[in-house]
Amino acid sequence: MTRIVSYFKSLLLVELLLGMWLTLKYLFKPKYTLMYPMEKTPQSPRFRGIHALRRYPNGEERCIACKLCEAVCPALAITIDSEKREDGSRRTTRYDIDLFKCIYCGFCEESCPVDSIVETHIHEYHFDQRGQNIVTKPQLLAIGDRLEAEIAERRAADAPFR
Ligand code: SF4
Ligand code: SF4
Repeated sequence: MTRIVSYFKSLLLVELLLGMWLTLKYLFKPKYTLMYPMEKTPQSPRFRGIHALRRYPNGEERCIACKLCEAVCPALAITIDSEKREDGSRRTTRYDIDLFKCIYCGFCEESCPVDSIVETHIHEYHFDQRGQNIVTKPQLLAIGDRLEAEIAERRAADAPFR
């Protein structure tokens, strides 16, 4: 029976007509063209753009150099070196992310036990020089410092769903 229905559907071009009806339906409706970059689409609090490293309110870096993010990264985009401080705590001496390798999967963010590495809403960035695709620890911390209020707000909005 299904084969007969399918035969008649293809013979009478039903799907083609349905498609044309859909086109006709939207022909006179208001258009959805967005005048980017003047207009922008709404963004989810979970949007994954360029990365940032966060600090605690007292200015101390959150990252404890556990290297979970480095281990979980499927693109091998993160490189971390670390050493012990005089007070016995462990901190990174190098934290690089290669944005050419990164696939913005968010695994680094998910794996971090102290909410240190996060992905921000920023997706409009470019590189002028060879090598700028490697974002270093000072650059990541600077992004985190600049966007901390917004990062905290977005994480709070998303917290009930985690
Ligand atoms: S977003 Fe994914 S690919 Fe990019 S650095 Fe994080 S874990 Fe690696
Ligand atoms: S960013 Fe988070 S997961 Fe990565 S090394 Fe630092 S504390 Fe560990």
